[in-house]
Amino acid sequence: MTNIAKALNSVRARIASAAKACGRSPEEIVLLAVSKTKPVAAIREAHAAGQNTFGENYLQDALPKIRELQDLGLEWHYIGRIQSNKTNEIAQHFAWVHSIDKLKHAQRLSKQRPVDMQPLQCCIQVNLSGEQSKGGVSTAELPQLARSIAQLPHLQLRGLMTMPDPHSKPEDQASVFAELAQLKRQLESEGILLDTLSMGMSGDLELAIAAGSTLVRVGTDIFGART
Ligand SMILES: *Cc1c(COP(=O)(O)O)cnc(C)c1O
Repeated sequence: MTNIAKALNSVRARIASAAKACGRSPEEIVLLAVSKTKPVAAIREAHAAGQNTFGENYLQDALPKIRELQDLGLEWHYIGRIQSNKTNEIAQHFAWVHSIDKLKHAQRLSKQRPVDMQPLQCCIQVNLSGEQSKGGVSTAELPQLARSIAQLPHLQLRGLMTMPDPHSKPEDQASVFAELAQLKRQLESEGILLDTLSMGMSGDLELAIAAGSTLVRVGTDIFGART
């Protein structure tokens, strides 16, 4: 077995035991393999070990990989910062976007989504750690943004995404995850149906699953450290 196959198995085992520990089924949790900065050979290895869903942050790095791996029929998720001049390529080459935090970007993505493709599956990124430098909409602005995005014809709003400060204490990360789950329930009580909580990475996936994560985004613990 290759190192990537072994690492994938151990991440899957962590997901399964975290789910069991809180009485959830492991099938409720999607594993997104974050392949940013990693070569196509590594992605092929992960695919050979049964992984079909991959996340990328940097468009210039992702597009050649997506083109080269077309034969595999992989599902690509864009999880990086969105810039207006990049929405067209995101709309054309990805199945999902996790990092929407501006209506302007969502409107462009909807307009630019090719009509012969499935609607672009979307999460709104919420900034719960209060860092100005980080992406994400504020809690106060979230409901209006969610209502507006839910109306766009070529997007399908699926849920919320967040990233706690990786240097914060585990209890603070856990409360960020709990807060995102609560925000999802609030939106649902207003009639905006969501089925996705995109939260949890290599270092904190257990905490995220305990708080209700349905999709964990794991890079380092599958592909090794990024240089
Ligand atoms: C890089 C990245 C990840 C993966 O982080 P790891 O700690 O390597 O698992 C997850 N989500 C986002 C948004 C990222 O940028």
